[in-house]
Amino acid sequence: MKRALVTGGAGFLGSHLCERLLKDGYRVVALDSLYTGSRENIAHLAGDANFEFAEGDVIGMDKMDLGDFDEVYNLACPASPVHYQARPMYTTDTCIFGMKNCLAVAERCGAKLLHASTSEIYGDPLVHPQTEKYWGNVNTIGIRSCYDEGKRIAETIASDHARLLGTDVRMVRIFNTYGPRMHPQDGRVVSNFIMQALRGEDITVYGNGSQTRSFQYASDLIEAMRRYMELPKETVAAFVAKHSLGAPVVNTGNPGEYTIRQLAEEVLRQIPESKSKIVEKPLPGDDPKKRKPDIALAGELLGGWKPAVPLREGLAATIEYFRGRK
Ligand code: UDP
Repeated sequence: MKRALVTGGAGFLGSHLCERLLKDGYRVVALDSLYTGSRENIAHLAGDANFEFAEGDVIGMDKMDLGDFDEVYNLACPASPVHYQARPMYTTDTCIFGMKNCLAVAERCGAKLLHASTSEIYGDPLVHPQTEKYWGNVNTIGIRSCYDEGKRIAETIASDHARLLGTDVRMVRIFNTYGPRMHPQDGRVVSNFIMQALRGEDITVYGNGSQTRSFQYASDLIEAMRRYMELPKETVAAFVAKHSLGAPVVNTGNPGEYTIRQLAEEVLRQIPESKSKIVEKPLPGDDPKKRKPDIALAGELLGGWKPAVPLREGLAATIEYFRGRK
């Protein structure tokens, strides 16, 4: 039976990944500091003999004995602007030391390592849609920099290990992803708008709402991650060479692009009983104006993978989840 380590395993995405790995017949260890993850996210997995939860921080993982693994998934990092900006130095440390510690485990065990990178590495992009070859437009000293630059250096560290040591690294740049188990107070736009609409509070559109995002439903991302990890190392290497990528990195996201105002309107359409009104609040610093993934490479590498869940459907399922929690 294969063993997988999921850092950030009690988080929103980590918990979905653990669930999928258990279904796929793995023994799974979920490591989580519970800074933004929660025991509630993995409570339904607790009775599974193949699942183990280890409370601990990926920054100190080198001092923990978690055993040996065939696959390592590095998802540990606060990902909501509210949370990563609340503890910016911690966020940067998580990116750097988390990456190094995951690489060390993968190298010791000869394991595959899948790293969860982000569309934030493109910053406020000047190329649209964003392709993997775009280097980004990132502020080094702004309020988003702890996350953006942290995630950028993590990619650098992983790429150097792959090049110099032959470590079997794979990276996904994840574009805005949503779904059940997002924390209601997560601070990100989808959970904020749904909670506000359900509670009859003002829907807080930052700026005039003309900035765009592309929203990927969680299960589409998990499917991409699993397909990527299943590929032989040689297949990944040949793909990197064919496309002169420099390192094994692909975008994963849903290319459907919406303005934030459109998202607010769609949430209200799906919660018709809501008394909420859309209000404008100041736009936070360095907020990217546009974001949309080019997913051609992911499609080619991952056997025709493309998102299966449109925003309307994914929102309905997410609203259902939040209704249950309200
Ligand atoms: N946003 C908003 N209202 C909110 C939360 C976020 O208008 O209550 C906007 C935010 O300014 C950004 C977009 O929604 O333009 C996505 O924000 P989120 O925090 O979800 O993720 P980001 O893509 O910015 O990391």
